[in-house]
Formats: sequence, C-alpha cells, structure tokens
Amino acid sequence: MRVVAVPNLKDNYAYLVIEGARAAVVDPGEAAPIEQALAREGVTLGAIWLTHHHADHVGGVAALVAKRPGIEVVAHAHDRERAPHVTNAVEHEATVELDGLRATIIYNPGHTLGAISYWISGSDGAVFTGDTMFGAGCGRLFEGTAAAMHASLSRLASLPETTRVYFGHEYTASNLRFAAAVEPNNPAIAARASALREPSTPSTVADERATNPFVRVGEPAVIAAARARGASDDPVSVLAAIRAWKDSFK
Ligand SMILES: [Zn+2]
Repeated sequence: MRVVAVPNLKDNYAYLVIEGARAAVVDPGEAAPIEQALAREGVTLGAIWLTHHHADHVGGVAALVAKRPGIEVVAHAHDRERAPHVTNAVEHEATVELDGLRATIIYNPGHTLGAISYWISGSDGAVFTGDTMFGAGCGRLFEGTAAAMHASLSRLASLPETTRVYFGHEYTASNLRFAAAVEPNNPAIAARASALREPSTPSTVADERATNPFVRVGEPAVIAAARARGASDDPVSVLAAIRAWKDSFK
C-alpha cells in the first residue's frame, strides 16, 4: 500500500490509497487534482471512499463517476441519500476491499451523524479520519454530541500507536497553538509544534495520544483547564468545554 496526499480546495486533503495499478480515493473535494494525481502516479481509480457528506469532501465525486460509470462509492448508511452517487452504504465494522487493499469501517459520529473512518490494519497501518480526528484537534460538533465525539476519538486513539493518521484538513499549526493553551507544560506539544512542516499529514496515533487535547480529556492538566471553564471531571464534560473554547479561540 502507498498513500499519496492530494491537497485540494483551500486546505482539504484527499488521498490516493494505491495498491498495484489501482487506487481508492478518499474524500475528493474536487476532481481535477485527483485526475492529475492519478495520471502522475500512473494508476487507475477503482473506488471512492467518503468519510462524510460535507461538500468539501464530496465535491469531486460527480465528475469522477461521470468518467467511470458504476464505480464503487462508499459512505455510511446515514449518508446514503445525502452523499452523491453512493453505491455501498456501510455500517460500523464493515470491510471494503479493492484488489489487495482491505479497510475496516470505524463509525465515528460527532462531527456529523454519518462520519466514518477507514482503517487499514497491519505493520504499515493507516486510518483516514476525515473531519473527526485532525492533527492535534477534532472536527466541530455540527450534528453529534460531545459524548459521541468522545467515544469516536477514544476508538480512534485505541488503534495501534504506529498507525498513521491521515486527516481531512491542514489545521495542525493552529490546533497546536490551541493545544499549547490547554496544556502549556506539555513538552510533546512544544516539540511537535517546533518540528511541524506542511503538509503535516500523516501523524500517528502516538502523536495524537501525546498532543491532542480532545484525545487527552482524561489527563489532569486538560481536566484542570476544562474545570476553569466550568467543566466537571467527567471526560465528556471536559471535551465539551475544550471544544467550546476552541470554537472561539484565535
Ligand atoms: Zn466536514
């Protein structure tokens, strides 16, 4: 397996997941950069894997499908109608396959009610998280609850720590500024910020466990920061307070 990040729109990442001469594309926000990447890599498109229905993640689907009638388009069952051209509506723990590639669906509501990640296990494991887990952050709670996002991030953070995390937006620098405000004395956050290069994708599960405040809602320093903003010690309350703080953080 080989993964190629394809920047598109303002700060979105789509990904080509390549096995042999074919690729799946994750979250094509627009078609032209995907077509260019396919040509550059010398591979053909065999499947479209969507993490959720937002326009900046699915905007390229119609044009890609128009050139490849019948191509598999995967989304969560909740997004069967609201994502375009879905042919395979999946649930938690379903698997999708393309040639030698096999991804397990992780249902992770919170950003939206149809949000899923695609996890490819193994020694070079990878997870494609859309707008659920970002580098040092998480998506806004547009449809789901803080409890749902907590459960979703916990599930992702429990994957093997070497798993590479391929997220949906280049937000890592500003997320790390916020993480440092939450935990000013966490040396891993300072180290990650000073080593940061863009593109910052992928990170690893270990990176997120060490620096992502939304994953670290059980850590004393994060709890203390949340308590100062009215939260209780409960991890869901901590996540809700940190998320509300981030929503207005400059
Ligand atoms: Zn989104």
